[in-house]
Order: sequence, then structure tokens, then C-alpha cells
Amino acid sequence: MKRLENRVAIVTGGTAGIGEATALRFAREGAQVVVWARNEARGKEMEKKAAAEGLAITFDKVDTSDFEAVTAAAKRVADKFGKIDILINNAGITNASTLKKLTVEQWQTVIGVNLSGTYYCCKAVLNYMLEAGYGRIVNASSVVGLYGNFCQTNYVATKAGLIGMTKTMARELGLKGITVNAVAPGFIETEMVAKMPENVLDGMRAKVPVGRLGRPEEIAAAYLYLASDEAAYVNGAVLSVDGGMTV
Ligand code: NAD
Repeated sequence: MKRLENRVAIVTGGTAGIGEATALRFAREGAQVVVWARNEARGKEMEKKAAAEGLAITFDKVDTSDFEAVTAAAKRVADKFGKIDILINNAGITNASTLKKLTVEQWQTVIGVNLSGTYYCCKAVLNYMLEAGYGRIVNASSVVGLYGNFCQTNYVATKAGLIGMTKTMARELGLKGITVNAVAPGFIETEMVAKMPENVLDGMRAKVPVGRLGRPEEIAAAYLYLASDEAAYVNGAVLSVDGGMTV
């Protein structure tokens, strides 16, 4: 039996990096996956790639920082598939600056996607999960949400905020059959990290006890565990997947 057989999962930001690896892994584990992301060309490309492998992945163009769009998209999933079992709040952006240079616009954009967007997605799926008495919500935090990071006041605020949201939602929803957890990735080889200069990447590798950056598939595996029935007793946890960077 596959680990997500008969489950309906939404993966936000599922057209690139960790989200793409997650959508593919979940579909291979038997889930019906709906990807919410903004890049239509990549979404369509991904649908084709999935179909060629016989995987059940559909793309819906959704900006998760738009509450009305997210609410309508959740209804489309529930109408089409009859339920929403899993929500992976993976969409996230960075817009780095020292505090001295950080503009209000940079602050608001990152808060809008990473923090408000996650709240909007949770709100949009909640009633469907409550009606079913079952749900798995996993939020993408970050190692920097635990320890801070230079030039990332806005991003770190969102990733730390998500940990508080996760713990609060876990307390509120546990009795309703819904678990809420977070994953705190270290530095993972995706486009987000590829933008960094090579000397910075070398410095990062040097800080990781396993001696390398992580792979998107390694975060997808953590999402998978927390989204599965096996994790029924894991609630309000923040799972570090960082090669030991923070020990
Ligand atoms: P990525 O930039 O490769 O992919 C992010 C995805 O989110 C893209 O598909 C993008 O289109 C989507 N997205 C962005 N804004 C969106 C919006 N408003 N609505 C819908 N989709 C939107 O990023 P990644 O490296 O794969 O990171 C995924 C998550 O993991 C993010 O939340 C990120 O903060 C977190 N994370 C990443 C790392 C890392 O090292 N890569 C480390 C810690 C945490």
C-alpha cells in the first residue's frame, strides 16, 4: 500500500524546488495532488511531466497571498475531489536586505506570501478538514526562523511566525483529527539558494556536519512523513532537516 493512497493533497508553490519534488513524491505515493502556484507555464509543463509518468497532479494558477483566490481554489479542489486531506504550505519568497535598507514594500511582500498566505490557505481548507474530521497541515519554516539570519529581517519574521502559528493551530485542531506541523529546512539546493554567490554557498557547506547542502527530495520526504497516517501522534512539531547545522 502506498503511503498516501486515496488522499487529496494541495502543495503550494509546487512548480519549483522543494514544492515540485513534494508534488511528485506525493503523487508517487498514491495521492491526488493539486499544485497551487503562480507560474502557469511551469505548472502546465509539470502536469505534462506527471501525466507521462501516470501521476495524478493537476495545476491551478493561484496566488496564495490573495485570500479570495485561495478560497475559490480550495472550493474547486473540494468540488472536484470531494475532500481535502493534506495541505503543504510550501510557497515562499525571499527579498533580502539589511534592516537599514529594507523597505516597507519588501517587508510587506514577504509577509504577504509567507505568513499571510499560509494563514489564508489554512483558513480556506479548514472547514473541509473539520467536516471530514481529518487533516494534515505542514508549514514550511526554516532554520533561519529558529536562529535568525543576516539581511533577512522580513523572511526570518515570517519563518519564526509560522512556528508560532503551527503550535497554536496544533493546539486548537488536534482534537478535531487535524495535525499541524512545521519543517525547518537548512540550506537546500533550489533556485532560491542558487541565487547566492559561490563563496557564500561554500561558507554554508562548511557549517553543515554532513558536509553538503540538502536536496529538495530530502525535504519532500519530511513533508511526506508528516502528511502520512504514520505521523498521527506528531502534532505541533518543528522538524529540522538541515544536515545537523543547528546542533
Ligand atoms: P523556490 O523559489 O524554488 O520555489 C518556491 C515556489 O513558491 C515556486 O513554485 C513559486 O512559484 C511559489 N510561489 C512563490 N510565491 C507564491 C505565491 N504568492 N503564490 C503561489 N506560489 C508562490 O523555493 P524553495 O527553495 O523550493 O522553497 C520552498 C519553501 O521552503 C519556501 O517556503 C522556503 O522559504 C522554504 N525554505 C527553503 C530553503 C532553501 O534552502 N531552499 C530553506 C528553508 C526554507
